[in-house]
Amino acid sequence: MLNQLKDMGKLTQTVQDLADAKEILWINPRGKENGFDETITEADIQEAEERLQRFAPYIKEVFPETAGSGGIIESPLKEIPSMQKALAEMLQVDHPGKLLLKCDSHLPVSGSIKARGGIYEVLKLAEKVALEAGMLQMSDDYGMLAEERFRTLFSGYSVAVGSTGNLGLSIGIMSAQLGFQVTVHMSADARQWKKDLLRSRGAQVVEYPDSYQKAVAEGRRAAQGDPRCHFVDDEGSLDLFLGYATAGRRLEKQLAELGVLVDYQHPLFVYIPCGVGGAPGGVAYGIKKVFGKHAHCFFAEPTHAPCMVLGMDTDLHDQISVEDIGLDGKTAADGLAVGRASRLVGKTLQPLIDGISTIDDYRLYNYLKALADTEGIYVEPSACASFDTPARVLQQEDYLEAQGLKENIKTATHILWATGGSMVPEEEMKHYYSLASNSSPRA
Ligand SMILES: *Cc1c(COP(=O)(O)O)cnc(C)c1O
Repeated sequence: MLNQLKDMGKLTQTVQDLADAKEILWINPRGKENGFDETITEADIQEAEERLQRFAPYIKEVFPETAGSGGIIESPLKEIPSMQKALAEMLQVDHPGKLLLKCDSHLPVSGSIKARGGIYEVLKLAEKVALEAGMLQMSDDYGMLAEERFRTLFSGYSVAVGSTGNLGLSIGIMSAQLGFQVTVHMSADARQWKKDLLRSRGAQVVEYPDSYQKAVAEGRRAAQGDPRCHFVDDEGSLDLFLGYATAGRRLEKQLAELGVLVDYQHPLFVYIPCGVGGAPGGVAYGIKKVFGKHAHCFFAEPTHAPCMVLGMDTDLHDQISVEDIGLDGKTAADGLAVGRASRLVGKTLQPLIDGISTIDDYRLYNYLKALADTEGIYVEPSACASFDTPARVLQQEDYLEAQGLKENIKTATHILWATGGSMVPEEEMKHYYSLASNSSPRA
């Protein structure tokens, strides 16, 4: 394949570095085109938010942990000054501006960013089925969906999904709660506790010894030809994307509550770990819709599974996989163990995303431990993939210069998007922590 890429004129230094599993910071040459996809509008995102509002009384009823937010599944946005100091020392860089952690690791119901898109897609399906059955009006109090007659209705339908773990958790927990028959097709990377948890909630779990892609393909195949089975397509679902994108307006509100300005003088930087791309793509799209050119969004991938940067740099998107350039796709960041990018997100984000970094696995544990030691917040390895991206962007003088950010970078706000972790069993978390290679975050 490398030879083929050479013939096509696509064997860039970036591709060569990716093939060598080097850590890189790729700056997207098309990142500031502000090219929003005309078919994915502000109104579409607003519609998704309104749907989530309609379901809030139901969510509050069946997941009492969401009572505090009135049934809206949202996570805290926190300042992490001690971690900011630790990162500056670990990485030997100045870390000016404000550093915040978006704690999707602690989202209610399923403890990861997948609670945004995954739950949204299942709720949308439930609404459609209930409306079509004539049992629900959009003006009703959706709290009544918790009644047995709705569970009976939904039990005539099924949901299928392929996942490395966290999407399966979100889809499985939400679908089973509503009463759907749900099957989660899990890749080899999926953790045992996730499978156990899903089974305990009544989901069917099918395990594959293969990659995520295979699990998705199996899910798709199983759902085919069954009009009563809804397949959640992590490689291209617009509903997932819209569910994630609602994070933009929510973040705007949280920043305002913290008194954080976003404007020319106070640019906003957001760093999100990326697997197939759905979650970070939707979130970044929503943020760009809200903040326009004042928002700078970066993704972060493992050096062994950099499918998004590979797809974007070559313009081949889902037509190339990391295996094609000789990588094994294996990583300790189980949520990011994806060899081929989403067919929707690669193309949609290409004219918007500012850059993508790649990171070696061993560093994930060091950042995991640093966050635990400095702030007392525990996240999973995948969630740490973007923790050093700000420091690397800050050192990218050419980029800052080209973006006119040289001065304003000192008054910027940086958000690390912690994508998962609160449901990881304590023993497993202790193990992750023990894998850090230094005894203090300063080492
Ligand atoms: C799924 C996941 C991601 C990445 O989301 P994609 O939609 O696969 O790109 C990042 N972190 C965690 C913890 C995840 O579960």
